[in-house]
Amino acid sequence: MNVADSRKLGAGLDRAGCTAVDAIEDADLVVLNTCSVREHAEDRAIGQLGRLKKMRSKGKAFKIAVMGCMVGVRDDDLRRRFPYVDAFARPQDFGPIMEIAGIDDSGGEFWPTTFATPDSVTAFVPVIHGCDKFCTYCVVPYRRGREKSRTVEDIRNEVAHYCARGVREVTLLGQTVEAYGQDFAADGLLAAPDLGDLMRAIHDVPGLERIRFLTSYPKDMTARIIDAVAELPKVCEHFYFPVQSGDDAVLERMRRGYTLDEYLLKHEMVRARMPDAAMATDIIVGFCGETDAEFQHTYDLLERLRFDKVHAAAYSPRPGTIAYRTLADDVPAEAKQERLRAIEQLEARVSFEINQKFLDTVQQVLVESRREGRWSGRNLPNKLVHFEGDASIGQMVDVRIEHATAWSLQGTALPATVPV
Ligand code: SF4
Repeated sequence: MNVADSRKLGAGLDRAGCTAVDAIEDADLVVLNTCSVREHAEDRAIGQLGRLKKMRSKGKAFKIAVMGCMVGVRDDDLRRRFPYVDAFARPQDFGPIMEIAGIDDSGGEFWPTTFATPDSVTAFVPVIHGCDKFCTYCVVPYRRGREKSRTVEDIRNEVAHYCARGVREVTLLGQTVEAYGQDFAADGLLAAPDLGDLMRAIHDVPGLERIRFLTSYPKDMTARIIDAVAELPKVCEHFYFPVQSGDDAVLERMRRGYTLDEYLLKHEMVRARMPDAAMATDIIVGFCGETDAEFQHTYDLLERLRFDKVHAAAYSPRPGTIAYRTLADDVPAEAKQERLRAIEQLEARVSFEINQKFLDTVQQVLVESRREGRWSGRNLPNKLVHFEGDASIGQMVDVRIEHATAWSLQGTALPATVPV
């Protein structure tokens, strides 16, 4: 979501006559787009601000803006701590940045019609902003506001804009992407579209080859959306389906809004319709009060469900959240690290085993880049593939897989797909 926001701001500044520069030293305006989902991300942004301050004190005259999820709560505190910052802008609120850049966007027409200029054959397209779920550990609803869907027409226009400029794959983004359209329904709109309808509506955009979507929220996943993914040939059968914990008591403390059985039911609905669908998940270890036994339930779940990818993080309390206010961060740091290591080791083993099934198969790869003499791209289930042979960026290439690690697949392009 932050990448999409940065690109959109970049396109808006570009449209207003600004030019991007490679080095901070050459800039008149530096915008730091921040994430505060974990303490570590905030620490990095603060470190970066310190470096900018030092550069400015040595005579560089650029203005500094901070945007993104660090802004929105405790703004007075931010202003006090970083008085040298010229503007603070909440996610998607580009107004304060345009103001210090001396650009008049008061007409209100500027942003809805400004789509980013793609610099890749893949593009991120936010389809629903914000989140209504208020999981106890999470800052997103406070920083990005309530769920608000974009219209199908607006999204289709953006996808068409990208595809006319060489994009072949779009990823439809939402904090809870299956909530797409629910706010239209709540507003009383009859026949409000859901994510499946949206996928159908963009499916025939000229040049578009693949559609991805993330992040899934188990409760919002419906049979109708699952059907759309299974039926539409351009939609990749890859689900990013966070469970966060394999223990009901922890899920309750997190206020995830589902029990483990409810999660498993949705997981099974996907598997029943698409047995080979790739699945990724998120896990938080060491959440408030997590016992060894509760952690073990998570570990056992991962061993059982065998996800293609597990994004695991140790819990860090985020100011302003329900957990920060009401639950003790009482799992010792060493225990968190130990649990994290256990999950990472399990994930490495499972991913390695899963990836072996691709050996000697032919995978269709969308070529995204070339580095050190090798092409790289992703196959339909979102595995990173490095390969040799003739290809070009943006091309779909059939690649025979000859080697598989936990993290990527390697192979050679089939001669039949070499362009003439
Ligand atoms: S669903 Fe929960 S974890 Fe995800 S963005 Fe919303 S509040 Fe945060």
